Amino acid sequence: MSAKVILDPGHGGHDQGASGNGLKEKDVVLKIAKYTNEILENNYEEVETRLTRKSDYFVDLLQRSEFANEWGADYFVSFHINAFDGSAQGFESYIYNGLPEDSKAEKFQNALHEEILKEAKYFYDRGLKEANFSVLRETNMPAILTENGFIDSEKDAKHLKSNEDLRNVALGHAKGIAEIAGLNLKDSNEKKKSEVVAGTFSNYENAQNKGEILSDQGVDNYVRKSGNYFEVVAGTFENNENAKDMVITLKNFGIDSYVKQ
Ligand SMILES: [Zn+2]
Repeated sequence: MSAKVILDPGHGGHDQGASGNGLKEKDVVLKIAKYTNEILENNYEEVETRLTRKSDYFVDLLQRSEFANEWGADYFVSFHINAFDGSAQGFESYIYNGLPEDSKAEKFQNALHEEILKEAKYFYDRGLKEANFSVLRETNMPAILTENGFIDSEKDAKHLKSNEDLRNVALGHAKGIAEIAGLNLKDSNEKKKSEVVAGTFSNYENAQNKGEILSDQGVDNYVRKSGNYFEVVAGTFENNENAKDMVITLKNFGIDSYVKQ
């Protein structure tokens, strides 16, 4: 499956959002959104992302939802940090309060909320909530707003100051998006193939002759050019052990070969 995802770091510019413990909400949410973007792009196939702002400038609330609607996004995630009076702490998520039961947004919220708390274990779970927020109301696609801890809580701020902890928050967002959008993980460790080379020759005919000897033994092979030389390739294997077995088999035929990766 493919998906177009809007990542919306709240506030920006003259609107710094909440503040406390030497932190500004606008800076912290930009970091989390950028990390989320990075993780989605690096780890998943067929995902397109757009950020509503990429640095510290002001973006109007309606501009954010219009941007998402015009692009035809499939999902919208707004990043925020809470504040109260220093005594409250934890994570909560919001969807629009005017939606019918079992909406797509509700499923999106369930997935995201769970994944975020799984990755950011240091957050107290304040629960799944609904509200009449502009970006949730005005967007045409499943939309969620996350309040990632309380900036004026000493306990939460400690984590909001740690890039590693913010990465965990971002990872939770990315995993939740991937789950609900059905994104496939990229094959990160591209399989290295092992080839068995049974001789390298400067002369093409000599290489072919070697190939014929192999064929006589029932070993499939081909000759290919490699730099200034010709190599006789006697098999390509996904598994290095199988390649080594082939080297032993050839040895029994009196043919020297080696594994090339
Ligand atoms: Zn905010």
